[in-house]
Amino acid sequence: CGIVGVVGVADAAAVLIEGLRRLEYRGYDSAGIAVLDAEGRIERRRAEGRIARLEALLAERPVPGMTGIGHTRWATHGAPTEANAHPHATGRVAAVHNGIIENYRDLRAELQAAGRVFASQTDTEVIPQLITALIEQGLAPVEACKAALKRFEGAFALGLVFAGEQELLIGARRGSPLAVGHGEGCMYLGSDAMALVPFTREITYLDEGDMVVLTRAGMTIYDAGGAEVVRPRRRTELSS
Ligand code: GLU
Repeated sequence: CGIVGVVGVADAAAVLIEGLRRLEYRGYDSAGIAVLDAEGRIERRRAEGRIARLEALLAERPVPGMTGIGHTRWATHGAPTEANAHPHATGRVAAVHNGIIENYRDLRAELQAAGRVFASQTDTEVIPQLITALIEQGLAPVEACKAALKRFEGAFALGLVFAGEQELLIGARRGSPLAVGHGEGCMYLGSDAMALVPFTREITYLDEGDMVVLTRAGMTIYDAGGAEVVRPRRRTELSS
């Protein structure tokens, strides 16, 4: 339902929570964040129900770190439980996802046959599982994402972070909107520019089929064919 991401800020969790609050108006049944800790490990906090519950969880067990992703979920596959809340993750990859992966049953069966163990009932979990399998085969994160995106069918927007990569955030869109926010020494990702206006008014809307690689220094966009492309940067008039 709602996606927020950030790379390179002092307190990623605070940015993610504020961004998710801006998306609350769209409705959701659960919420969660994943942040890379100082050692580069993926730390997740997820909760059924209101964002306030996620915040309470974070107050008890904070997740310091400068890069992460957040999500408000509107369940399509799998009950609205904590185990099915996003981000979904392996030890190596965490993902947030809007939309539906239509061929998830086939991908899940294939990954399970290869020995991968699933922790949720969602269509979403095939995303981090497949990308992890590709990384374990030796692909770098960007290449693994490009290869995985060729295998997903359906309409979706994604945000991804990777263990040991505190300065990397990847987004992708197909049939579901996604925007990049430009900061100073940091970059943002959001399914709706509304989520980004508290932090920046400089926005780039991704085109259909685009994948974006975000670092603290900026962005690189690849189109559906894998070619590097430039998309315009605009100053949004949305009010915060
Ligand atoms: N299909 C995914 C799920 O059920 C994502 C739903 C959404 O867009 O929030 O978990």
